[in-house]
Amino acid sequence: MGFWPKGYKSCFFLSFDYDASSAETWKTPGDLSSLSKGRYAPQVAVPRILGLLDGLEIKSTFFTPGWTCDNHRDSVAEIISHGHEVAAHSYSHERMTELTAEKEAEVWERSLAALERVGVKPRGYRAPYWMLNERSLSHMKRLGFQYSSNMMDEDMPYMLKHNNVDTGLVELPVEWLLDDWPHFEMDRMSPDEVYRLWKPEWEGLHELGRYFGLTCHPECIGRVSRLKMLEKLILEAENVGGVWFPIGKELADWVRKKAKSPRT
Ligand SMILES: [Zn+2]
Repeated sequence: MGFWPKGYKSCFFLSFDYDASSAETWKTPGDLSSLSKGRYAPQVAVPRILGLLDGLEIKSTFFTPGWTCDNHRDSVAEIISHGHEVAAHSYSHERMTELTAEKEAEVWERSLAALERVGVKPRGYRAPYWMLNERSLSHMKRLGFQYSSNMMDEDMPYMLKHNNVDTGLVELPVEWLLDDWPHFEMDRMSPDEVYRLWKPEWEGLHELGRYFGLTCHPECIGRVSRLKMLEKLILEAENVGGVWFPIGKELADWVRKKAKSPRT
């Protein structure tokens, strides 16, 4: 018997990290051009992505820094109004592993307060740069989070243990291979080249009945040619059939349920 809900052979978890200019505000605050790149997300990319997801009838999860909620409130409200999930992603895209314990606690507080201002109590957390530390795990437990999306040790979601102790969190794993940023923004690959990386990975995982977790950034994937490539990949998956496209919290609930009663 398969792992996924009835009728599904594999899982495609599509997520976006809605960073906007959150990192540039502390990394390069005087660089106006660099700051402007993040604004491509609320101004152009997010409306385009929402239109695409509506057309494909897919809901997605947007890991959103508190800074983005505070500075692009209408855009985040629009995401929510389209039925997508907003989850936590720090306040200003901080490198959590490099902060003092005191500073990190402050970031968690600011992040949650900003999400609350847009009416969100997040269930999931993705660390900026996937720099997750032990302290973050305890903050997640203390603050009632249900899932993490940070680890690279699996291609199936699972119940997350740390030092052999159950954290109570579900892990929705990630991988740099399935992240748009390094391919497009660092290696400057073409949409065709990235398609040639992602498609066989998706096909292989689907054949094995496993999980394909794709991480995109609106200001990166939202360029027309790249978004067309993403649309092609999703349409092909939809046409094959049997592919579950859950949002993060729905997937985490399913994994937790399966962990409790693996035979159902
Ligand atoms: Zn990010």
